[in-house]
Amino acid sequence: MNAHDSERIKGMLEELGLGEAADQADADVLVFNTCTIREKPDQRFAAHLAQARALKDRKDETVIAVGGCYAEAQRERLFELYPFVDVAFGPGTIPHLGDWLGAGGHNVARGAFGIAEERTFAGTLPMHRERRFQAWIQVSMGCNSKCAYCIVPRVRGREVSRRPGDIVAEVTRLAGEGVREITLLGQNVNSWGRDLAPDLRTDFGELLRATDAVTGIERIRFTSPHPKDFRDPVIAALAECEAVCEHIHLPLQSGSNRILKAMRRTYDRDRYLRLAEKLRHAIPDLALGTDIIVGFPGETEADFAETLAVVEEVRYDSAFTFVFSPRAGTEAAALADHVPEDVKRGRIERLIELVQRIAAERNSERVGRVEEVLVEGASRTDSSLLRGRTRRNTTVNFAGAAGPGDLVDVRIESATSTTLKGTEAALVAA
Ligand code: SAM
Ligand code: SF4
Repeated sequence: MNAHDSERIKGMLEELGLGEAADQADADVLVFNTCTIREKPDQRFAAHLAQARALKDRKDETVIAVGGCYAEAQRERLFELYPFVDVAFGPGTIPHLGDWLGAGGHNVARGAFGIAEERTFAGTLPMHRERRFQAWIQVSMGCNSKCAYCIVPRVRGREVSRRPGDIVAEVTRLAGEGVREITLLGQNVNSWGRDLAPDLRTDFGELLRATDAVTGIERIRFTSPHPKDFRDPVIAALAECEAVCEHIHLPLQSGSNRILKAMRRTYDRDRYLRLAEKLRHAIPDLALGTDIIVGFPGETEADFAETLAVVEEVRYDSAFTFVFSPRAGTEAAALADHVPEDVKRGRIERLIELVQRIAAERNSERVGRVEEVLVEGASRTDSSLLRGRTRRNTTVNFAGAAGPGDLVDVRIESATSTTLKGTEAALVAA
């Protein structure tokens, strides 16, 4: 979501006539789009901001704008903490940034800061997409869940769904511009639709069906769903829509019922496992990814062992693993019994080792198969190869003659825990 916000910010700045500077030191306007989900991005941002300040000390007219979730979290004291910041905006007030920056960044109203109550969708803003054939589509903003560790509801506000007609119109326009793959975005993407007016009342399954029907859209992805919102009509749509890819991100967070309850995730281990099974049954050859937090307050060695057991049982194709990071203002930050840093480190290392072993095994099962790959560009590790992703969202480096945006068949020849390697089938046949 943050990367998509950056695309909008960039597109809007370009519309104002502000192009990208080759170097920070040459820029007239510096815009930061921050994340505050864990403490690490906050620390990295502080270092970047110190650099920006040094630039401004040398060139007084430099404009510094700070956006994103950190800005929203610190809205009461941002200008106090950093008096050299000229403009601040939250994730829901990106559309106002243009006005606040003023044409070319001149005459900026110092202290103009958007508040969450003014939130609007950025759907009509220009956007600077990295690739012409892939696009993110924001379908909702905010989140109504109360996960004890998470700062998102505080900084992005309550959930608001975008109107279905607006979403489908955007997807149709993008398809006309050559977009083949879309990723529907929401903090809790599969609860989309619940807050819409009764005459528009619908669900995420209906949204999948409506976007699947748009000519030219060949791949549909979505992130991030919550396990509690995979109701039967949504699962049926996932199984029936041809463009919907065989990849689901299913955040587990913990395998211990005690910890899941303290996290307020609203499902327990068995319900989660039943759902994973149901999804795999409905969608053959499904790839499952997940998010896991280790070291939530009070997590014992036995709780952690239960997380490892679920990972063994589900056998994920990929996983994002996080060390619990207390966020000011969240319920979990105030809990007693924080797990010592060295224990958290030890646990995440063991978890990563297991996740990687299973992912390598899962990927090695693809060797010998032919996978459909959407070509994204040159391989990052070997420029003589191309890079793309399978429908199951695995990166493939391969020998081939295709170009970015092409959908090609690739014969898989080898695998690691994160990537596959192969040769374009047309070349194999030649
Ligand atoms: N809405 C999504 C969901 O419910 O799974 C996730 C959104 S969050 C931006 C992405 C991931 O960050 C979460 O799934 C969680 O694993 C992780 N996360 C959130 N808050 C965290 C915290 N305080 N410490 C460590 N990891 C955290
Ligand atoms: Fe955060 Fe996701 Fe929970 Fe919402 S559902 S509070 S975004 S982890």
